[in-house]
Amino acid sequence: MQKNKPFTARETCPLCGCIKFDIIVSALYTDPRVMNFITKYYGGRVPTDIFSGTPYEIRQCAECGLFRQAYTLNDSLSFQLYEKWIDSKDSLNKKLYGDAQLYRTYAEEMSVIISLTEKMPHEINVLDFGMGWGFWCRMAQAFNINVTGFELSKKRLRYAEKMGIKTISSLSGSKERYDFINAHQVFEHVSDPVGLLKELCRLLKSGGAIRLSTPNAGHEIKEFITETWKADKNAFHPLEHLNGFCKKTLIRLGETASLTEIENVPLSHPTQIYFRKP
Ligand SMILES: [Zn+2]
Repeated sequence: MQKNKPFTARETCPLCGCIKFDIIVSALYTDPRVMNFITKYYGGRVPTDIFSGTPYEIRQCAECGLFRQAYTLNDSLSFQLYEKWIDSKDSLNKKLYGDAQLYRTYAEEMSVIISLTEKMPHEINVLDFGMGWGFWCRMAQAFNINVTGFELSKKRLRYAEKMGIKTISSLSGSKERYDFINAHQVFEHVSDPVGLLKELCRLLKSGGAIRLSTPNAGHEIKEFITETWKADKNAFHPLEHLNGFCKKTLIRLGETASLTEIENVPLSHPTQIYFRKP
């Protein structure tokens, strides 16, 4: 049996389908500007033989302006990345020992959800898509909102369940319909953002709202224009941040699912948009 290739090339833009692009940066993964980051960040857990000849390459779509990593891990290695290579203890500790501002921000976001849905907290159904360890869901519970968390990582799912969060790990079987869906730091990670958004919108009630927030690629791309660039934990995080959005491309993403931007919402994150489903 032929072994799956470790990386898949993304020849077309995952937002608009255009095949034309500009290359912003391209260097082999084995180049020290990339590999030093990979080795340090993942604590040497990523097997280096998967990289042979593959470049870390950032492309910008000539039509819509979306940035993308040109080569992404196959499904099996992507699973390894999120379950094994990422330091889960470190990720949990960021929440366990988060400062008060983190939880103040969550509380402000709950107030936004209540005002956008114009319902009593106990009447609001919320889905936190990509809930991680479930800390945001716990704040929703504190506001008496009916919250469900979706998460692919089994470790995170089990942790959140132990904390009393209702969870799901597949969207296809879900019969629930939601007043609000939270997708914080999700869409930069997925290979098919348009397909995912349409699937989420299927679960959103008519008139419901969805929040998309991502790192600001438009701002951070400037770092690559300098001679001294190196891969880093930013909007173009190797292996993880497959798409680089800015406000304009997030709005365009919303339009693919017929969503309209809700204006004048107090924002708790620099690159985020609240959308309404008609
Ligand atoms: Zn495009």
